[in-house]
Amino acid sequence: MGTVTVNERGSRAGVRDLGRGMPQPLEERVAHLQRVFTRQFGVAPSVITRAPGRVNLIGEHTDYNDGFVLPLAIQRDTLVAARARVDGQVRAYSATLRSGAQWYLRDVEQSADQPWSNYLRGLTKLLPEAGVPIAGADLAIASTVPLGAGVSSSAALEMATGTALLSLAETSRATTTLALLCQRVENEFVGVRTGIMDQFVSGLAQAQHLLLLDCRTQAYEYVPLPDGFVIGVADTGVEHGLVASEYNRRRAECELGVAALAAVLPGIRALRDVSVEDFVRHEHTLIDPVRRRCRHVVTENARVLETVAALRAEALDRVGELMYASHTSLRDDYEVSIPELDTLVEAGRGVRGVVGSRMTGGGFGGSTVTLVEQRAVNHWSRTVRDVFRQHFGRIPRTFITTPAQGASIVWHATD
Ligand code: ADP
Ligand code: MG
Repeated sequence: MGTVTVNERGSRAGVRDLGRGMPQPLEERVAHLQRVFTRQFGVAPSVITRAPGRVNLIGEHTDYNDGFVLPLAIQRDTLVAARARVDGQVRAYSATLRSGAQWYLRDVEQSADQPWSNYLRGLTKLLPEAGVPIAGADLAIASTVPLGAGVSSSAALEMATGTALLSLAETSRATTTLALLCQRVENEFVGVRTGIMDQFVSGLAQAQHLLLLDCRTQAYEYVPLPDGFVIGVADTGVEHGLVASEYNRRRAECELGVAALAAVLPGIRALRDVSVEDFVRHEHTLIDPVRRRCRHVVTENARVLETVAALRAEALDRVGELMYASHTSLRDDYEVSIPELDTLVEAGRGVRGVVGSRMTGGGFGGSTVTLVEQRAVNHWSRTVRDVFRQHFGRIPRTFITTPAQGASIVWHATD
């Protein structure tokens, strides 16, 4: 963290500084990355792709319980410039981190020195295994997605790179196929046990829509965000070392809950199969904290579906209530919030025009997501920054977004 990028005009902007100004227009970023690529590799790229980060409006810790999530892609994305090589070598340069890496396709291994390159190494191993011919590549990367802030810079990197490598191979795969492959990269090659949400939304997102995703069946639907509303993201700046161990513990507690409830609800495979009514009837058979963990997941799944219905009915007050209820449940039952997240949510709550707010992502740090009327965004962001500074002595980064489009090719050499 604390890395800096130098933009075209030579001014310095911290990649995690979400608060200052808007990112450059896409054409300027593309032109800049073309220059970076040519400087690094001595030739021009043949294709440039992009893929966005994401934020989850509601449905937290439901993905690994076979449940529902409702994310959107953000107006922050990762660009990848690429050109094919024929010598079995991959050379990669991240302008975001100002770091380079290279490897050979005949023996792709994890790198301890350049962990960021493992996302790309994994792709260059798994894509050929999936029948996509790769004989080598030069890759240059630049991103406006903040790294490690819980808005999935990792999925943006994977999906943009995957889209670029498919283009170099002059082949295509269904977006869902690429997303599943990128998830495998993250699970098997980087070693992070995540669900399918991040890659699916980074690939499939449609502008002005949320993506309702069923993490069991992988079925999805688009849900329009009503006009006049935008999404505010506020980053606590906290990255907790606890996340992995606590995450694994929560998973195990959910599995214990399923095993116990299966005694009275035969046939259930995951908490996704338990209705709120059944849970209320049988929760006395569970001991704490398993009971509270299960209560969160069961009620959260119901909240996602109710949020979708409320959005479709333009019942925004109800959407707000469900977002606050989600936060309370994550704080008290799932116990993954921290005071910084609670403070951001509460600070926004008092602002006229704020519909709802909650922590988003795994917890123990990361960001909050807030649904707010367009005309109230400045008031919201000033208020949460002020209140947070009074409590914690520093100003959190905030940014505003509307739902963005998923991964795409943004430039192609014409020859
Ligand atoms: P998140 O996905 O929430 O941002 P992760 O820890 O899952 O957090 O992924 C962040 C990691 O992904 C970074 O530490 C880095 O290794 C890699 N990464 C993401 N974007 C880039 C980029 N533009 N250049 C190089 N590495 C990147
Ligand atoms: Mg990630």
